[in-house]
Amino acid sequence: MKKNVFAMAIAACMAASLAACGGAGTAETTGAQTTAAQTTAAQTTAAEAGETASAEETTPAETKAEAEAAGGVLVMATNAEFAPWEYYEGDKIVGIDPEIAQAIADKLGMTLEIEDMAFDSIIPAVTSGKADFGAAGMTVDEDRMVFVDFTDTYANASQVIIVKETSEIAGSADLSDKKIGVQLGTTGDLLATDLAGDDNVERYNKGFEAVQALLQDKIDAVVIDSAPANVFVEQSQGLKVCDEAMSQEEYAIAVAKGNTELLDKINGALKELKEDGTIDAIMNKYIPAE
Ligand code: GLN
Repeated sequence: MKKNVFAMAIAACMAASLAACGGAGTAETTGAQTTAAQTTAAQTTAAEAGETASAEETTPAETKAEAEAAGGVLVMATNAEFAPWEYYEGDKIVGIDPEIAQAIADKLGMTLEIEDMAFDSIIPAVTSGKADFGAAGMTVDEDRMVFVDFTDTYANASQVIIVKETSEIAGSADLSDKKIGVQLGTTGDLLATDLAGDDNVERYNKGFEAVQALLQDKIDAVVIDSAPANVFVEQSQGLKVCDEAMSQEEYAIAVAKGNTELLDKINGALKELKEDGTIDAIMNKYIPAE
């Protein structure tokens, strides 16, 4: 039943205005123009200061122009509110997914562009062609497979519960009558709805907002993916992650349904990146083994 609600939400968003769900096209152009303008400004400043513009300042623009001419641009849709998978460092989107996507783009000789949007806008952006693929710690899910195709998986994850250190909630068995915060349209949303009923679930656009609500005692718990849960708890005072892995999930990249050409290319690149240790190295960089 709730599974259908999940699928219907995706369908509704797609059926409504696709423009409202994504908007990648505009941002893309602006981003490229800004980058070009900034590069020029940086070079001018360096020249004015009597310095030779360093390789670092000139290379990205040249590389990008070359790559665009050669292989084209690959637009990735994500929701950069999900450290360590994707988040902002200054105005740059970094994390495991951007690094894996960059490595894939490099293998394909293409230029990667990243579009940040709400999590539940990612699939509509991919199906409408505003983005070529979605990479967002996205769990392979059969309801999503009505709209997109998933590549081979590249990581495992599970849903966990964040509570205040003083909370008596110890696991999912204690959640049935509790207020649970989740990120809208996620597998955590589905699971929490299952456990506590629709009326007890508070849906936020960002995991961070759910965690703030928990800190302010507006809700009793947050259900979210394990690695982001650990990051949120590290960054806040007085929170803990319960010791229960509530689901077994696998992350993969989503492409438009039937886009087997891109699916095969990404799978080919992913296979090589798994075999040569690149994926492991990226994962270990962001989630160091204990
Ligand atoms: N893995 C979860 C899902 O796919 C959450 C992803 C996210 O919030 N970025 O629904």
